[in-house]
Amino acid sequence: MVDAKAAKARAKPAAQATARGGTAFAPHAHCRICQCPVDVKADPRVCKDPTCIAELERREASERRMRTWMLIFFGLFALTFIGPVLLRTFG
Ligand SMILES: [Zn+2]
Repeated sequence: MVDAKAAKARAKPAAQATARGGTAFAPHAHCRICQCPVDVKADPRVCKDPTCIAELERREASERRMRTWMLIFFGLFALTFIGPVLLRTFG
């Protein structure tokens, strides 16, 4: 009983916050590495933990590399379709 009352009391301000168009919590984002809350304006979106910063750098470098390879493979893939068409058109 006491717990339910306490929960209700806690829920009320949150409901009011929702009614105002916001969420129950202050606007915040999560660290991309450890998921702990960070400032929304944080850019890059990581906390101040050096391990997280290093991990993000590592991930972004590998993402960049992956994107480059995807682009190369997609280009080759597209060329196998477009190449013959071009040859037939202009050849
Ligand atoms: Zn973190």
